[in-house]
Amino acid sequence: MKRIGVLTSGGDAPGMNACIRAVVLTAAAYNLDVVGFHHGYNGLLDEDYQTLLPQHVQHIIQHGGTILKSARCKALYTDAGAVQAAQVLHKLQLDALVIIGGDGSFRGALAIAPHYHGQLIGVPGTIDNDVDGTDFTIGFATAIDTALDAIDKIRDTADAFERIFLVELMGRHSGYIALSAGIAAGAEQIICPEFGPVSKAQLTKLLAPIQHAQLLRGKSSYIMVVAENSYPGGTIALAEDLSAELGTECRACILGHIQRGGKPVGADRILATKLGAYAVEQLVNGAHLMMAGELNQQAVLYPLAQTGERTKQIDPYLVRWQQQIASD
Ligand code: ATP
Repeated sequence: MKRIGVLTSGGDAPGMNACIRAVVLTAAAYNLDVVGFHHGYNGLLDEDYQTLLPQHVQHIIQHGGTILKSARCKALYTDAGAVQAAQVLHKLQLDALVIIGGDGSFRGALAIAPHYHGQLIGVPGTIDNDVDGTDFTIGFATAIDTALDAIDKIRDTADAFERIFLVELMGRHSGYIALSAGIAAGAEQIICPEFGPVSKAQLTKLLAPIQHAQLLRGKSSYIMVVAENSYPGGTIALAEDLSAELGTECRACILGHIQRGGKPVGADRILATKLGAYAVEQLVNGAHLMMAGELNQQAVLYPLAQTGERTKQIDPYLVRWQQQIASD
């Protein structure tokens, strides 16, 4: 093995830079050349890339975003796109490609695989933590702290005005961020896709705990953390419907992309460094179509094809506890 490529794809996540750095420094230790593709798979298809030397990754470990830029790439969903991606990898004489992204990005790698003679390895980089084969994904820990900081601030104003707030957090179709940030913020109620869909007809399920808390506990504020995609019409519609039912105004706050940015926290930098380094080491050992993940603090290889099976569950203990205290 002489030359490898690396790219960041899908939603950017704090710690992607730390991972690129680890890939480049580890590759240098094995005397491998590295090229970095810009804008995810788009850079691969467009042959938009740069050589990455250790000096290019100096002092990037502390920065959010990704020096390579990230993007979604429609062309890769087609056979022609996958064939073209493999052709570019061959043309640039790349023996392997490291894909830092979520399970969608890994499906992209699987699409390229039948046309490519080299090795493909994934590293889980997404704030959503919705990737099987790793306890945590790069960016998740930072996203929780970012959300937490925002919810703590919302709590101050909610307390001052004795308001009910709905705070929508990211997570695509998983409730990892909502559950973790909601628990850490002491939210009164948490709504995650894993708890089952909430339709307009089932609003009473959400109303009762609010009324209960206000009457019995004299709560001066009430915070409901809502994972995105939990309610038809979105969280603003949910706030409006709850307002109508309760006869008191419920405010919605959509945290949005703020959760994707910021300095990566220590845990993300460490995970990114470990998994980026491990991915390169395992490529040298011949790994192919695997993801470098971490389970029980051990770096492990996990089949790329299984990373999107959604077998990993949000913490059932915390789910039970949260539901119990919300209804007590
Ligand atoms: P995140 O969930 O954090 O946004 P992700 O990697 O899951 O990250 P996606 O948008 O699902 O994000 O995928 C990123 C890119 O991977 C897509 O834009 C596309 O280029 C490629 N990709 C995803 N799924 C496929 C697929 N089935 N076939 C080919 N390419 C795919």
